[in-house]
Amino acid sequence: MRIFDGFNELLFPEKGVCLFCGNEEEDIKNYICNYCKDNMEYLNREVDLDSPYLGKVVYSLFYNEFIKEKIYLYKYENYGYLYKPLGEILLKTIYEKNLIENIDIITYVPIHRRRKAIRGYNQSELIAKYLSKILDIPLSREKLIRIKHTKPQNKLNRYDRMKNMEGVFKVVDSTEFENKEILIIDDIITTGATIKECAKVLLEEGQAKNVHALAVTSGMKL
Ligand SMILES: [Zn+2]
Repeated sequence: MRIFDGFNELLFPEKGVCLFCGNEEEDIKNYICNYCKDNMEYLNREVDLDSPYLGKVVYSLFYNEFIKEKIYLYKYENYGYLYKPLGEILLKTIYEKNLIENIDIITYVPIHRRRKAIRGYNQSELIAKYLSKILDIPLSREKLIRIKHTKPQNKLNRYDRMKNMEGVFKVVDSTEFENKEILIIDDIITTGATIKECAKVLLEEGQAKNVHALAVTSGMKL
């Protein structure tokens, strides 16, 4: 039977499917078709968030309508499977920026458990899990948690944003992070306040050695 299976594959090569647009093409790699690739602009940009708690902060793509829409679908419209192409985008950046050197664990920006229950998943956690598996670096889950809801950060000024983030995150098991080099994953860096606060808590409560951050895109005006 195996011979026949192989024969069928030669006659009808399995087409790849683009998970962003549903296009079927034979040479689809990493779940993204050429059309969608042309709609993305890789920046692999390192940003300075002016935080003593953060090492490298890098995002992959220029924030355009294309990626804005995909992230919206991923977070709010139940397109949970988009963690695969989004994970592939981050992988490309990781390799190009040499981001995994010395990384002991990968984690993610936590969402409140109530929000996770409603959405069914944490978008950044799914991407972090995907990266952890491919890179063979342990994933830390549910050791950095979110204990407070926050107002949308983009409506606040710089001072209120920092105030808004106070006491939002908590480390529940510091042995997980102690003396470790951590890569934290987020989908989008909007103001930087969330990622800064996560890094602060990981260092102060978790006793981490260093925290680096990686996001798909950033809406920051730079
Ligand atoms: Zn596509």
